[in-house]
Amino acid sequence: MHDGISEYDDKGHGEFPFPVPSYRFDQKNEMFKRRTWDPEIKPHGDRLYNTIKYQDKYGYRKLDYALRNASWNIEYGFGFGNMRSDIGLYSWSHIADKVKRFVETGGPVQNPARTNSHIVKKAARFLGADLVGICKVHPNLIYSHEYDLINMEHRPLELPDGCYHAIVMAVEMDYTATRYSPDSISGAATGLGYSRQAIVANLVATFIRGLGYKAVPSGNDTALSIPLAMAAGLGELGRMGLLVTEKYGPRVRLCKVFTDLPLAPDGFRPFGVKAFCEVCKKCAKNCPSRAITYGDPTMEGPSLSNFSGVLKWYINPEKCFLFWVKNWMDCNNCVRVCPFNKPQGKLHDSVRTIIRKMPLLDRPIVWIDDLLRYGRPVRRKNFWETP
Ligand code: SF4
Ligand code: SF4
Repeated sequence: MHDGISEYDDKGHGEFPFPVPSYRFDQKNEMFKRRTWDPEIKPHGDRLYNTIKYQDKYGYRKLDYALRNASWNIEYGFGFGNMRSDIGLYSWSHIADKVKRFVETGGPVQNPARTNSHIVKKAARFLGADLVGICKVHPNLIYSHEYDLINMEHRPLELPDGCYHAIVMAVEMDYTATRYSPDSISGAATGLGYSRQAIVANLVATFIRGLGYKAVPSGNDTALSIPLAMAAGLGELGRMGLLVTEKYGPRVRLCKVFTDLPLAPDGFRPFGVKAFCEVCKKCAKNCPSRAITYGDPTMEGPSLSNFSGVLKWYINPEKCFLFWVKNWMDCNNCVRVCPFNKPQGKLHDSVRTIIRKMPLLDRPIVWIDDLLRYGRPVRRKNFWETP
């Protein structure tokens, strides 16, 4: 058991907006790293990642896999944010001298922190981020070690000096494609999110270097994206363990850029997710592996791969991963069924406002969501039949 802490260390200022475990998570224990070293998981990981099994059913044919694999190509070929830090589009250390040269030829841009925050957010949106926020970096949210899947190395991890802020960005995953979960079409929505976020993180980091400051772009490497995104005002943690944003629900992928650029952080902005999750439970009902709890938040997760020590809903990552293996494909069922997942529009935006302001109506909203059969999987062959 770990006690959650909410203070920054002496390099930060003020309090982190919610408790954070009192230790740093070792990325080696993350599920997608364990699939390379944990004898219990590795045979399953090898099966999922080293084999493609085309099947004679919609969503699992060669055509469907081709789309899924194309969507990932920027991440797998140029980004590598799922493999290690400081590589490909997420590189930063070998570019540091460019910042130095800029500083020698005029010095970094000097603006008040609020002006910098405005500028960076404007640039991030222009460069492809669908949501952007800024937070202070709690040191316990940086992995203690990273596990490098390219060189199979396990090494300690620290951010460069002065990088106490994170610009956290979300890119939307396609609503229609996600509705095909758990097949390749939905997998393509995930892959495209990863490919897009690698480009966005790279471009935003390059912009910050152009202002004369350090910039460390990061995908799933280096630090835990969800609590950083929460602290940056992007959303709340849902029962299914994902970030739930107000605009897109959990239908997003996350990246971030750490920097020493002076910035004014945003705050944590809850909008009713916790109260809604208490009555909804649609993700738990529709999880094929029973990885999502129906119960109350707890201080400890069931697995080595949980970042335990604060009161929250923990999923069982082993159960989730083993379903992916069985399915020969990743899964987005919990994203698909989440009532926050809806596209923009007057009706859905009004419901979001009601959830934020009138939690007493959460239960009827879930009931209506079920009645209207939102979140049901769509017929698989429709994807290729529609223009
Ligand atoms: S991805 Fe699928 S298996 Fe994993 S927790 Fe979500 S619904 Fe369950
Ligand atoms: S499906 Fe319901 S319970 Fe699950 S995260 Fe979304 S709102 Fe919360």
